[in-house]
Amino acid sequence: METLLRLAIQKSGRLQEGSLELLKEAGLAVNNSRDQLKARARNFPVEVLFLRDDDIPQYVEDQVADVGIVGENVFLEKKRRNHIIRKLDFARCRLSIAIPRSEQYTGITWLEGKNIATSYPVIVKDFLSKHGISAGIHEISGSVEIAPGIGLADAICDIVSTGSTLLSNGLKEVEQVMRSEAVLIGGSSLEPDKQAILDKLLFRIEAVKSAHNNKYILLNCPNEAIQKITSVIPGMNSPTIMPLSKPGWSSLHSVVDENDFWEKIDLLKSFGAQGILVIPIEKMIA
Ligand code: ATP
Ligand code: ZN
Repeated sequence: METLLRLAIQKSGRLQEGSLELLKEAGLAVNNSRDQLKARARNFPVEVLFLRDDDIPQYVEDQVADVGIVGENVFLEKKRRNHIIRKLDFARCRLSIAIPRSEQYTGITWLEGKNIATSYPVIVKDFLSKHGISAGIHEISGSVEIAPGIGLADAICDIVSTGSTLLSNGLKEVEQVMRSEAVLIGGSSLEPDKQAILDKLLFRIEAVKSAHNNKYILLNCPNEAIQKITSVIPGMNSPTIMPLSKPGWSSLHSVVDENDFWEKIDLLKSFGAQGILVIPIEKMIA
């Protein structure tokens, strides 16, 4: 029988789309119809299992799945025999403590002796004990943000991305407990066949990730500026230089990191670069 790597992803929710998108960009064709539990990629030896995200760490520990995609918050909360194989750069959010806006927050000691409602009791407990605070923790599984309003708790600890849910429930964010993004987790070591499939998948994920973080850049510059410009955008090896039909000018092609893109553009302009084009890269293999 053919060896398949079993990859667990969220069945429905905020991680599902990003997970499927990542697989698609890595070249895996996965059908997902609403009610199926698993799907075999048509062109890659992976079987995708669709599960509740909260259950994925357990399934990975039990080797029902070989690897899984969850939020870092769920990975930390579940404390299973899992490790992070790779951070995946999507589903970024933070886990924060929020209190009613009418309260005056005096610092972390404000939480002493209070009641905190959360779906993440383990993470909150760790956070409080790290700060030497003792508080009651009230575990609830959903709609945490209404807890203070109905008198269930003095504070909450929940996921925040924009803060608008907090605002509409009369709450304000007072402590950031952790930042989170989607992560690929694994359990115990894999048999060689499966590890080989995972390595191949990771290679593709790497190509997709670096493509997202980089742009292809083309510009025209006077020949005297080539050296300076090359030092700013060295690219993967070194830039490609092609002469323009206009004497003394060249076209220079390179790759630029998205994070310091704007800063570099300013520098390039100051060196005399013109006609700058920036183009998305689909895959990038170093
Ligand atoms: P259920 O288990 O019932 O499906 P859930 O609250 O665990 O619900 P989601 O709301 O889909 O599931 O969130 C899944 C993960 O996505 C969270 O654990 C977190 O890592 C991340 N996440 C949650 N909310 C956001 C958000 N607003 N922006 C970005 N990422 C988020
Ligand atoms: Zn969940």
